[in-house]
Amino acid sequence: MPIGKKITNKNLEKKVTIEEILDNQNEETIIYRDIFNFLTPDILKSLSTEDKESESENNMIEEPEWNTSFRVRELANWVVDNNRKIKEEFKGSRINRSNQAHSKTAYITHKLNRLVDLSLLVRIQKIESRKNRKLVTDIFDITRNGVIIALTLEIEKHSNKSDQYGKILKFLYKEWKTFVPDGYRDHHNIEYYLIEEILDECLISNQNILLDFIKLIRKHSNGYDINFSILRYELHCLIFSKIRSDNKFKNSFYKIVNNFNIFKGLDIDPTDKKLEDLRKENLKLLKVQFKLDIESFIDKCFSEYLKIDSYSIKSFVWSSREDNQNKTVGEIHQNRHYSDIMNEIVLTFEVRKEWEKERNKNLTNFDRIVILVKCSSCGQIYPISFNLELESFSKIRCKYCNNLTISQYIFENEINAQYHYRIASLASRL
Ligand SMILES: [Zn+2]
Repeated sequence: MPIGKKITNKNLEKKVTIEEILDNQNEETIIYRDIFNFLTPDILKSLSTEDKESESENNMIEEPEWNTSFRVRELANWVVDNNRKIKEEFKGSRINRSNQAHSKTAYITHKLNRLVDLSLLVRIQKIESRKNRKLVTDIFDITRNGVIIALTLEIEKHSNKSDQYGKILKFLYKEWKTFVPDGYRDHHNIEYYLIEEILDECLISNQNILLDFIKLIRKHSNGYDINFSILRYELHCLIFSKIRSDNKFKNSFYKIVNNFNIFKGLDIDPTDKKLEDLRKENLKLLKVQFKLDIESFIDKCFSEYLKIDSYSIKSFVWSSREDNQNKTVGEIHQNRHYSDIMNEIVLTFEVRKEWEKERNKNLTNFDRIVILVKCSSCGQIYPISFNLELESFSKIRCKYCNNLTISQYIFENEINAQYHYRIASLASRL
Protein backbone atom coordinates (compact mmCIF):
# COMPACT_ATOMS: atom_id res chain seq x y z
CA MET A 1 0.00 0.00 0.00
CA PRO A 2 1.45 3.41 -0.90
CA ILE A 3 2.46 5.11 2.29
CA GLY A 4 0.91 8.43 1.23
CA LYS A 5 -2.53 6.86 1.07
CA LYS A 6 -2.17 5.39 4.49
CA ILE A 7 -1.32 8.74 6.03
CA THR A 8 -4.18 10.49 4.25
CA ASN A 9 -6.70 7.90 5.40
CA LYS A 10 -5.56 8.24 8.94
CA ASN A 11 -5.72 12.02 8.88
CA LEU A 12 -9.15 12.08 7.35
CA GLU A 13 -10.59 9.42 9.60
CA LYS A 14 -13.85 10.57 11.10
CA LYS A 15 -14.17 9.81 14.77
CA VAL A 16 -17.05 7.52 15.57
CA THR A 17 -19.79 8.88 17.84
CA ILE A 18 -21.88 7.09 20.44
CA GLU A 19 -25.03 7.73 18.40
CA GLU A 20 -23.42 6.05 15.39
CA ILE A 21 -22.55 3.04 17.50
CA LEU A 22 -26.09 2.83 18.83
CA ASP A 23 -27.57 3.09 15.35
CA ASN A 24 -28.41 -0.50 14.44
CA GLN A 25 -28.80 0.45 10.80
CA ASN A 26 -25.25 1.78 10.53
CA GLU A 27 -23.17 -0.85 8.73
CA GLU A 28 -19.92 0.95 9.48
CA THR A 29 -20.29 0.54 13.22
CA ILE A 30 -21.17 -3.17 13.42
CA ILE A 31 -17.73 -3.95 14.80
CA TYR A 32 -18.29 -1.61 17.76
CA ARG A 33 -21.62 -3.21 18.53
CA ASP A 34 -19.97 -6.61 18.33
CA ILE A 35 -17.36 -5.55 20.87
CA PHE A 36 -20.22 -4.75 23.23
CA ASN A 37 -21.97 -7.99 22.30
CA PHE A 38 -18.83 -9.83 23.30
CA LEU A 39 -18.92 -8.16 26.71
CA THR A 40 -22.64 -8.35 27.37
CA PRO A 41 -22.87 -11.88 28.86
CA ASP A 42 -20.38 -10.85 31.58
CA ILE A 43 -22.18 -7.57 32.14
CA LEU A 44 -25.49 -9.36 32.59
CA LYS A 45 -23.94 -11.70 35.14
CA SER A 46 -22.59 -8.72 37.06
CA LEU A 47 -25.93 -6.97 36.80
CA SER A 48 -27.63 -9.82 38.63
CA THR A 49 -25.15 -9.53 41.50
CA GLU A 50 -25.59 -5.76 41.56
CA ASP A 51 -29.29 -6.23 42.05
CA LYS A 52 -28.79 -8.61 44.94
CA GLU A 53 -26.22 -6.41 46.65
CA SER A 54 -28.26 -3.25 46.51
CA GLU A 55 -31.26 -5.10 47.91
CA SER A 56 -29.47 -6.86 50.73
CA GLU A 57 -27.38 -3.99 52.08
CA ASN A 58 -29.83 -1.25 52.73
CA ASN A 59 -27.75 1.88 52.82
CA MET A 60 -24.42 0.53 51.75
CA ILE A 61 -24.63 0.34 48.00
CA GLU A 62 -21.43 -1.22 46.91
CA GLU A 63 -20.26 -1.37 43.35
CA PRO A 64 -20.65 -4.91 42.08
CA GLU A 65 -17.65 -6.71 40.85
CA TRP A 66 -17.66 -6.28 37.13
CA ASN A 67 -15.78 -9.23 35.74
CA THR A 68 -15.47 -7.70 32.35
CA SER A 69 -11.78 -7.26 31.64
CA PHE A 70 -10.46 -8.94 28.51
CA ARG A 71 -7.45 -9.33 26.30
CA VAL A 72 -7.51 -8.17 22.71
CA ARG A 73 -6.80 -11.71 21.58
CA GLU A 74 -9.84 -13.13 23.37
CA LEU A 75 -11.97 -10.55 21.66
CA ALA A 76 -10.31 -11.22 18.29
CA ASN A 77 -11.12 -14.94 18.60
CA TRP A 78 -14.72 -14.11 19.34
CA VAL A 79 -14.94 -11.57 16.53
CA VAL A 80 -13.78 -13.95 13.78
CA ASP A 81 -16.51 -16.36 14.88
CA ASN A 82 -19.25 -13.79 15.26
CA ASN A 83 -18.73 -10.61 13.26
CA ARG A 84 -20.79 -10.90 10.11
CA LYS A 85 -18.42 -8.93 7.89
CA ILE A 86 -15.26 -10.71 9.02
CA LYS A 87 -16.92 -14.12 8.75
CA GLU A 88 -17.83 -13.30 5.15
CA GLU A 89 -14.30 -12.14 4.49
CA PHE A 90 -12.84 -15.50 5.59
CA LYS A 91 -15.55 -17.65 4.04
CA GLY A 92 -13.88 -20.53 2.22
CA SER A 93 -10.45 -19.34 3.29
CA ARG A 94 -7.85 -21.90 4.33
CA ILE A 95 -6.35 -19.62 6.97
CA ASN A 96 -6.90 -21.25 10.32
CA ARG A 97 -8.94 -19.57 13.01
CA SER A 98 -5.95 -18.58 15.10
CA ASN A 99 -4.29 -16.81 12.17
CA GLN A 100 -7.56 -15.21 11.21
CA ALA A 101 -7.80 -13.75 14.71
CA HIS A 102 -4.17 -12.69 14.58
CA SER A 103 -4.65 -10.90 11.27
CA LYS A 104 -7.54 -8.90 12.74
CA THR A 105 -5.83 -7.91 15.99
CA ALA A 106 -4.50 -4.56 14.77
CA TYR A 107 -7.90 -3.66 13.30
CA ILE A 108 -9.69 -4.56 16.51
CA THR A 109 -7.15 -2.73 18.69
CA HIS A 110 -7.76 0.35 16.60
CA LYS A 111 -11.51 0.09 17.29
CA LEU A 112 -10.86 -0.48 20.98
CA ASN A 113 -8.79 2.70 21.08
CA ARG A 114 -11.73 4.61 19.60
CA LEU A 115 -13.90 3.28 22.42
CA VAL A 116 -11.27 4.35 24.94
CA ASP A 117 -11.37 7.84 23.38
CA LEU A 118 -15.12 7.85 24.00
CA SER A 119 -14.56 6.77 27.64
CA LEU A 120 -16.57 3.62 27.04
CA LEU A 121 -13.57 1.39 27.65
CA VAL A 122 -10.36 1.76 29.62
CA ARG A 123 -6.99 0.21 29.06
CA ILE A 124 -6.24 -1.04 32.55
CA GLN A 125 -2.79 -2.55 32.34
CA LYS A 126 -0.22 -3.98 30.09
CA ILE A 127 1.13 -7.40 30.85
CA GLU A 128 3.19 -9.85 28.95
CA SER A 129 1.46 -12.12 26.53
CA ARG A 130 0.94 -15.63 27.83
CA LYS A 131 2.57 -17.19 24.79
CA ASN A 132 5.42 -14.85 24.13
CA ARG A 133 6.79 -13.14 27.20
CA LYS A 134 8.46 -10.45 25.11
CA LEU A 135 5.13 -9.35 23.75
CA VAL A 136 3.17 -6.79 25.70
CA THR A 137 -0.59 -7.27 25.67
CA ASP A 138 -3.20 -4.74 26.58
CA ILE A 139 -6.01 -5.56 28.92
CA PHE A 140 -9.19 -3.60 28.43
CA ASP A 141 -12.18 -3.15 30.63
CA ILE A 142 -15.53 -1.49 30.26
CA THR A 143 -16.48 1.76 32.02
CA ARG A 144 -19.83 2.57 33.63
CA ASN A 145 -20.75 4.55 30.50
CA GLY A 146 -19.69 1.58 28.40
CA VAL A 147 -22.02 -0.65 30.40
CA ILE A 148 -24.86 1.79 29.73
CA ILE A 149 -24.18 1.66 25.98
CA ALA A 150 -23.83 -2.14 25.96
CA LEU A 151 -27.15 -2.58 27.76
CA THR A 152 -28.87 0.07 25.66
CA LEU A 153 -27.99 -2.14 22.69
CA GLU A 154 -28.83 -5.34 24.54
CA ILE A 155 -32.32 -4.42 25.70
CA GLU A 156 -33.67 -4.40 22.15
CA LYS A 157 -32.94 -8.11 21.89
CA HIS A 158 -35.18 -9.05 24.82
CA SER A 159 -38.91 -9.50 24.91
CA ASN A 160 -40.45 -6.81 27.06
CA LYS A 161 -42.14 -9.51 29.11
CA SER A 162 -38.95 -11.19 30.25
CA ASP A 163 -37.33 -10.73 33.65
CA GLN A 164 -34.05 -9.83 32.03
CA TYR A 165 -35.72 -7.00 30.14
CA GLY A 166 -37.14 -5.54 33.34
CA LYS A 167 -33.79 -5.78 35.03
CA ILE A 168 -31.91 -4.08 32.21
CA LEU A 169 -34.53 -1.38 31.91
CA LYS A 170 -34.37 -0.62 35.61
CA PHE A 171 -30.61 -0.27 35.42
CA LEU A 172 -30.71 1.88 32.28
CA TYR A 173 -33.39 4.17 33.65
CA LYS A 174 -31.43 4.72 36.84
CA GLU A 175 -28.22 5.38 34.94
CA TRP A 176 -29.56 7.58 32.15
CA LYS A 177 -31.39 9.67 34.72
CA THR A 178 -28.03 10.73 36.14
CA PHE A 179 -27.41 12.62 32.89
CA VAL A 180 -30.03 15.16 33.95
CA PRO A 181 -27.90 18.05 35.27
CA ASP A 182 -27.90 18.42 39.06
CA GLY A 183 -29.20 21.96 38.93
CA TYR A 184 -32.50 20.71 37.56
CA ARG A 185 -33.01 18.62 40.69
CA ASP A 186 -33.52 21.77 42.73
CA HIS A 187 -36.50 21.09 44.95
CA HIS A 188 -38.35 24.09 43.52
CA ASN A 189 -38.25 22.46 40.09
CA ILE A 190 -41.41 20.50 40.81
CA GLU A 191 -41.83 19.63 37.13
CA TYR A 192 -38.75 17.47 37.36
CA TYR A 193 -40.04 15.65 40.42
CA LEU A 194 -43.44 15.08 38.87
CA ILE A 195 -41.83 13.62 35.75
CA GLU A 196 -39.62 11.44 37.90
CA GLU A 197 -42.61 10.13 39.81
CA ILE A 198 -44.44 9.33 36.58
CA LEU A 199 -41.42 7.55 35.17
CA ASP A 200 -40.91 5.60 38.40
CA GLU A 201 -44.48 4.41 38.07
CA CYS A 202 -43.82 3.45 34.44
CA LEU A 203 -41.08 1.14 35.65
CA ILE A 204 -43.86 -1.12 36.86
CA SER A 205 -46.64 -0.59 34.38
CA ASN A 206 -45.59 1.23 31.25
CA GLN A 207 -42.11 0.38 30.28
CA ASN A 208 -42.35 1.69 26.71
CA ILE A 209 -42.36 5.24 27.96
CA LEU A 210 -39.12 4.61 29.82
CA LEU A 211 -37.43 3.49 26.64
CA ASP A 212 -38.64 6.65 24.95
CA PHE A 213 -37.36 8.68 27.89
CA ILE A 214 -33.96 7.00 27.55
CA LYS A 215 -33.95 7.84 23.84
CA LEU A 216 -34.71 11.46 24.66
CA ILE A 217 -31.90 11.70 27.18
CA ARG A 218 -29.56 10.01 24.73
CA LYS A 219 -30.45 12.53 22.10
CA HIS A 220 -29.57 15.37 24.45
CA SER A 221 -26.79 13.87 26.50
CA ASN A 222 -23.86 14.78 24.29
CA GLY A 223 -21.77 17.01 26.44
CA TYR A 224 -23.99 18.92 28.76
CA ASP A 225 -26.71 20.02 26.41
CA ILE A 226 -29.79 18.72 28.16
CA ASN A 227 -32.21 21.59 28.39
CA PHE A 228 -34.90 20.84 30.90
CA SER A 229 -37.65 22.77 29.10
CA ILE A 230 -37.03 20.80 25.92
CA LEU A 231 -36.87 17.52 27.78
CA ARG A 232 -40.08 18.30 29.66
CA TYR A 233 -41.81 19.40 26.46
CA GLU A 234 -40.88 16.20 24.65
CA LEU A 235 -41.93 14.05 27.58
CA HIS A 236 -45.25 15.85 27.83
CA CYS A 237 -45.85 15.16 24.14
CA LEU A 238 -45.03 11.51 24.70
CA ILE A 239 -47.42 11.32 27.63
CA PHE A 240 -50.10 13.10 25.61
CA SER A 241 -49.91 10.62 22.75
CA LYS A 242 -49.87 7.71 25.19
CA ILE A 243 -52.98 9.04 26.96
CA ARG A 244 -54.74 9.08 23.61
CA SER A 245 -54.47 5.33 23.20
CA ASP A 246 -54.31 4.03 26.74
CA ASN A 247 -57.01 4.81 29.25
CA LYS A 248 -55.29 2.99 32.08
CA PHE A 249 -52.21 5.10 31.58
CA LYS A 250 -54.32 8.24 31.51
CA ASN A 251 -55.87 7.35 34.86
CA SER A 252 -52.59 6.56 36.49
CA PHE A 253 -51.05 9.74 35.06
CA TYR A 254 -53.77 11.97 36.51
CA LYS A 255 -53.74 10.07 39.77
CA ILE A 256 -50.05 10.87 40.16
CA VAL A 257 -50.54 14.49 39.11
CA ASN A 258 -53.47 15.08 41.48
CA ASN A 259 -51.78 13.42 44.42
CA PHE A 260 -48.43 14.95 43.69
CA ASN A 261 -46.98 16.08 46.96
CA ILE A 262 -44.58 19.01 46.81
CA PHE A 263 -43.86 18.53 50.51
CA LYS A 264 -42.78 14.94 50.15
CA GLY A 265 -40.31 13.96 52.83
CA LEU A 266 -41.06 17.03 54.95
CA ASP A 267 -42.78 16.82 58.31
CA ILE A 268 -45.90 18.85 57.66
CA ASP A 269 -49.33 19.12 59.23
CA PRO A 270 -51.73 17.67 56.63
CA THR A 271 -54.63 19.84 57.87
CA ASP A 272 -52.76 23.13 57.43
CA LYS A 273 -54.96 25.22 55.14
CA LYS A 274 -52.15 27.47 53.93
CA LEU A 275 -50.02 24.55 52.88
CA GLU A 276 -52.96 22.91 51.14
CA ASP A 277 -53.48 26.13 49.14
CA LEU A 278 -49.84 26.15 48.25
CA ARG A 279 -50.10 22.55 47.10
CA LYS A 280 -53.10 23.40 44.93
CA GLU A 281 -51.32 26.39 43.45
CA ASN A 282 -48.41 24.18 42.47
CA LEU A 283 -50.73 21.58 41.02
CA LYS A 284 -52.20 24.32 38.85
CA LEU A 285 -48.73 25.33 37.67
CA LEU A 286 -48.04 21.75 36.63
CA LYS A 287 -51.30 21.46 34.73
CA VAL A 288 -50.81 24.80 32.99
CA GLN A 289 -47.37 23.72 31.85
CA PHE A 290 -48.75 20.46 30.51
CA LYS A 291 -51.46 22.36 28.63
CA LEU A 292 -48.97 24.86 27.20
CA ASP A 293 -46.64 22.13 26.00
CA ILE A 294 -49.41 20.20 24.29
CA GLU A 295 -50.76 23.31 22.60
CA SER A 296 -47.28 24.21 21.48
CA PHE A 297 -46.97 20.68 20.08
CA ILE A 298 -50.24 21.10 18.15
CA ASP A 299 -49.02 24.45 16.86
CA LYS A 300 -45.84 22.81 15.52
CA CYS A 301 -47.86 20.00 13.95
CA PHE A 302 -49.95 22.58 12.10
CA SER A 303 -46.84 24.14 10.64
CA GLU A 304 -45.52 20.74 9.62
CA TYR A 305 -48.77 19.81 7.95
CA LEU A 306 -49.36 23.10 6.21
CA LYS A 307 -46.08 22.94 4.31
CA ILE A 308 -48.07 21.54 1.42
CA ASP A 309 -50.59 23.77 -0.33
CA SER A 310 -54.20 22.88 0.37
CA TYR A 311 -55.07 22.02 -3.24
CA SER A 312 -52.42 19.29 -3.29
CA ILE A 313 -53.70 17.88 -0.03
CA LYS A 314 -57.27 17.97 -1.32
CA SER A 315 -56.33 16.12 -4.49
CA PHE A 316 -54.41 13.62 -2.41
CA VAL A 317 -57.41 13.01 -0.15
CA TRP A 318 -59.77 12.85 -3.12
CA SER A 319 -57.63 10.46 -5.14
CA SER A 320 -57.11 8.14 -2.16
CA ARG A 321 -60.85 7.51 -1.94
CA GLU A 322 -61.67 4.02 -3.06
CA ASP A 323 -63.88 5.13 -5.99
CA ASN A 324 -61.26 7.49 -7.34
CA GLN A 325 -58.13 5.44 -6.97
CA ASN A 326 -57.88 4.31 -10.59
CA LYS A 327 -59.13 7.43 -12.33
CA THR A 328 -56.87 8.80 -15.04
CA VAL A 329 -56.01 12.46 -15.47
CA GLY A 330 -58.14 12.41 -18.64
CA GLU A 331 -61.20 11.17 -16.76
CA ILE A 332 -60.76 13.74 -14.03
CA HIS A 333 -60.62 16.46 -16.65
CA GLN A 334 -63.54 15.14 -18.68
CA ASN A 335 -65.85 14.68 -15.72
CA ARG A 336 -64.84 18.02 -14.22
CA HIS A 337 -63.85 16.45 -10.96
CA TYR A 338 -61.96 19.58 -9.97
CA SER A 339 -64.90 20.95 -8.02
CA ASP A 340 -65.21 17.61 -6.17
CA ILE A 341 -61.56 17.91 -5.27
CA MET A 342 -62.10 21.47 -4.06
CA ASN A 343 -64.93 20.26 -1.83
CA GLU A 344 -62.69 17.93 0.15
CA ILE A 345 -62.36 19.05 3.73
CA VAL A 346 -58.75 19.29 4.79
CA LEU A 347 -56.70 21.17 7.29
CA THR A 348 -56.08 24.72 6.14
CA PHE A 349 -54.81 27.97 7.55
CA GLU A 350 -58.42 28.90 8.24
CA VAL A 351 -58.75 25.94 10.61
CA ARG A 352 -55.50 26.97 12.19
CA LYS A 353 -56.84 30.46 12.77
CA GLU A 354 -59.94 28.99 14.41
CA TRP A 355 -57.71 26.90 16.61
CA GLU A 356 -55.65 29.94 17.60
CA LYS A 357 -58.79 31.88 18.51
CA GLU A 358 -60.02 29.02 20.66
CA ARG A 359 -56.62 28.65 22.29
CA ASN A 360 -56.48 32.33 23.13
CA LYS A 361 -59.96 32.20 24.61
CA ASN A 362 -58.84 29.38 26.90
CA LEU A 363 -55.49 30.74 27.97
CA THR A 364 -56.47 30.82 31.62
CA ASN A 365 -58.46 27.57 31.68
CA PHE A 366 -55.65 25.45 32.99
CA ASP A 367 -57.60 22.21 32.81
CA ARG A 368 -58.74 22.64 29.21
CA ILE A 369 -56.46 21.87 26.32
CA VAL A 370 -57.42 23.19 22.91
CA ILE A 371 -57.10 20.32 20.50
CA LEU A 372 -58.27 19.55 17.01
CA VAL A 373 -60.99 17.01 16.24
CA LYS A 374 -62.29 15.34 13.14
CA CYS A 375 -65.81 14.02 12.67
CA SER A 376 -66.08 10.70 10.90
CA SER A 377 -69.68 11.41 9.83
CA CYS A 378 -69.46 14.84 8.28
CA GLY A 379 -65.70 15.03 7.86
CA GLN A 380 -65.35 18.44 9.53
CA ILE A 381 -62.10 19.33 11.22
CA TYR A 382 -62.27 21.93 13.98
CA PRO A 383 -60.84 22.91 17.36
CA ILE A 384 -62.47 22.22 20.71
CA SER A 385 -61.35 22.97 24.22
CA PHE A 386 -61.14 19.65 25.93
CA ASN A 387 -60.71 18.48 29.48
CA LEU A 388 -58.33 15.64 28.87
CA GLU A 389 -58.69 14.38 32.40
CA LEU A 390 -62.48 14.21 32.67
CA GLU A 391 -64.02 14.29 29.22
CA SER A 392 -64.33 11.57 26.66
CA PHE A 393 -64.91 11.96 22.91
CA SER A 394 -67.62 9.34 22.97
CA LYS A 395 -69.85 11.80 24.83
CA ILE A 396 -69.21 14.93 22.78
CA ARG A 397 -71.52 15.68 19.87
CA CYS A 398 -70.16 17.05 16.60
CA LYS A 399 -70.98 20.73 16.41
CA TYR A 400 -71.82 20.39 12.69
CA CYS A 401 -73.83 17.16 12.43
CA ASN A 402 -74.66 16.47 16.09
CA ASN A 403 -73.41 12.88 15.87
CA LEU A 404 -71.29 11.21 18.49
CA THR A 405 -68.57 10.62 15.95
CA ILE A 406 -65.72 12.97 16.70
CA SER A 407 -62.24 11.88 17.56
CA GLN A 408 -58.95 13.59 18.04
CA TYR A 409 -57.29 14.64 14.81
CA ILE A 410 -54.00 12.81 14.68
CA PHE A 411 -51.48 14.92 12.85
CA GLU A 412 -48.78 12.29 12.81
CA ASN A 413 -50.96 9.89 10.80
CA GLU A 414 -51.98 12.57 8.33
CA ILE A 415 -48.42 13.83 7.92
CA ASN A 416 -47.29 10.26 7.44
CA ALA A 417 -49.87 9.64 4.72
CA GLN A 418 -48.82 12.85 3.02
CA TYR A 419 -45.21 11.84 3.18
CA HIS A 420 -45.96 8.60 1.34
CA TYR A 421 -47.99 10.54 -1.17
CA ARG A 422 -45.09 12.90 -1.80
CA ILE A 423 -42.68 10.00 -2.26
CA ALA A 424 -45.13 8.27 -4.62
CA SER A 425 -45.70 11.38 -6.70
CA LEU A 426 -41.97 12.06 -6.86
CA ALA A 427 -41.40 8.51 -8.02
CA SER A 428 -44.03 8.81 -10.74
CA ARG A 429 -42.29 11.89 -12.07
CA LEU A 430 -38.99 10.07 -12.50
ZN1 LIG B 1 -69.92 15.87 12.24
